Amino acid sequence: MQSHDLIIIGAGLAGMRAALEGVKAGIDVAIVTKIHPLRSHSCAAQGGINAAIDPQDSRDSHAYDTVKGADYIGDEDAIELMCQEAPEAILEMDRMGTPFSRIEGGLIAQRAFGGASFNRTCYAADRTGQVLLHTLWEQLVKAGVKVYQECSVMRLVTDRAGAVSGVVAYDIKTGALFGLRGKGVLMATGGYGRVFLSNTNATTNTGDGMALALRAGAPLADMEFVQFHPTGLRTSGILVTEGARGEGGYLINALGERFMGKYAPNKLELASRDVVSRAEQTEIIEGRGKNGAIFLDLRHLGAEKILERLPQIRQLSLDLEGVDAIHAPIPVRPTAHYSMGGIRTDKLGASPLPGLYAAGEAACVSVHGANRLGGNSLLDTIVFGKITGAHCAASVKKETFRDFDNSAVEAVRANLADLKARPNKGLRPSALHHRMAGAMNLHCGVFRTPEGLDAGVAEIAGWRDDYTRIHLDDHADDFNIDLLRAVELGYLIDLAECILRGAQARPESRGAHSRTDHPNRDDDNWRKHTLSHWDGSLGAVTLSHEPVRTVGKAEYAPKVRTY
Ligand SMILES: Cc1cc2nc3c(=O)[nH]c(=O)nc-3n(C[C@H](O)[C@H](O)[C@H](O)COP(=O)(O)OP(=O)(O)OC[C@H]3O[C@@H](n4cnc5c(N)ncnc54)[C@H](O)[C@@H]3O)c2cc1C
Repeated sequence: MQSHDLIIIGAGLAGMRAALEGVKAGIDVAIVTKIHPLRSHSCAAQGGINAAIDPQDSRDSHAYDTVKGADYIGDEDAIELMCQEAPEAILEMDRMGTPFSRIEGGLIAQRAFGGASFNRTCYAADRTGQVLLHTLWEQLVKAGVKVYQECSVMRLVTDRAGAVSGVVAYDIKTGALFGLRGKGVLMATGGYGRVFLSNTNATTNTGDGMALALRAGAPLADMEFVQFHPTGLRTSGILVTEGARGEGGYLINALGERFMGKYAPNKLELASRDVVSRAEQTEIIEGRGKNGAIFLDLRHLGAEKILERLPQIRQLSLDLEGVDAIHAPIPVRPTAHYSMGGIRTDKLGASPLPGLYAAGEAACVSVHGANRLGGNSLLDTIVFGKITGAHCAASVKKETFRDFDNSAVEAVRANLADLKARPNKGLRPSALHHRMAGAMNLHCGVFRTPEGLDAGVAEIAGWRDDYTRIHLDDHADDFNIDLLRAVELGYLIDLAECILRGAQARPESRGAHSRTDHPNRDDDNWRKHTLSHWDGSLGAVTLSHEPVRTVGKAEYAPKVRTY
């Protein structure tokens, strides 16, 4: 069996940034990724990455905006750490060769983003994630890091004491299963947007690492907080960056009215995402939308600016909605986008499960609390990728390899054999996925009602039952994507349960979690994190709560959040 000091699952920005730190520390690090590193969802990030690099701006102000944006449930020590480290993190990427957009004189350009009191979002046109990802990949190729490409991790292996000793991976190219032993395992598997039918995420964003960690005994935190992005394209849900509003685009309803003044009189379209999504949804519910959408108007920016700063947005709107943003407003609607919740970690990326670490969207550090500010996620990946990579390296140097129980490989083999052996009749995984994800949109979307949440929770048992009856059309060993999607559907159901139960149990409105029966924030009783645990004997998710980590600064004390 192959062994590595540190096994990193995921080759997005968080995983690659961590790997680079492992290489620098001189440990043997390997990455396992189910897709080619450059196809990771980080590549789709458009608008930019936040850092207080302008002398007029300050790290404290970035931290304050983030605490407020998180609706006072982010861990303040982690937020301060991220905002402190941000400028150096950006300059490091710059020195490695990231081609950021520049202003005259050569300084890195910055644009306005939602919920920020300064224009602090660094960008490369509307392809920021892509250029960051390519920069890190070049560094890893140069360092010769071992990458297990197109291999999907399907189980975390733990020893008798419950500490993580490695993983079981499935080689998508051949269908072979293999064990990998590690002194530490770092989950950098990204988000779970596919839990929802309408979302901005890649098909690969199925939350695998969160679900595997949950089943192995690690708690997930704050899963009820799901970010709905205000501008997904009406039909496909594909994202139109907040950078489009940062550049001066605004929102209008079907009557042509610019409506944000009613909901966020000061920041208008650049209020935080939860506020803008609720405003749009209200316009749509009250009949001022068109075919379930409202419109993003860029026409007044002019062709030159659109083509220079937002070329991808124009092309996507043309290709997918048949609308040329230079001449017509783009139909958009709130769409599931980002997972604020994830594997609970401390600010160095360690989970409570010995040997398991997490970074990036898969983790809940928690810097985003109840609502993430645009541009803070790319930052989270490179800051905490680096910090966690360094912490893992220091930790594994002190560890020896733990017992790897081979029966874990056999258990996964038996699961896959069972899926493949089922007769070709009955329920297809895609049909069950469609039903579940549709129910999540309906019952657990921008606004949540008690009846809707109860109905969603009541459906979970049916999804689990039907999951035992799904069948495959493809029985081959090589590139069996049918099989992969079926396995991923199992993860999505676990995560949907965490989201629904967390939302049902939180009787308040905070950040992205908006309950029609409890429209206010309840700091006395609910300024705390939700933890989800897997209870094997119940075959269900159970909840507990833990306090928010505060640093005692008066300016961070909860206030009414207006924009
Ligand atoms: C369309 C879009 C635009 C965005 N724009 C911005 C933006 O402008 N600014 C911003 O701050 N944020 C933005 N975000 C959010 C941000 O891009 C992501 O949160 C971030 O890039 C996630 O990075 P990551 O490294 O955690 O995971 P990802 O980049 O999602 O990578 C996940 C990795 O895990 C691997 N993986 C997953 N499961 C398994 C498994 N079972 N076995 C092996 N490998 C596995 C995948 O192969 C992949 O390599 C955007 C998100 C989207 C969807």
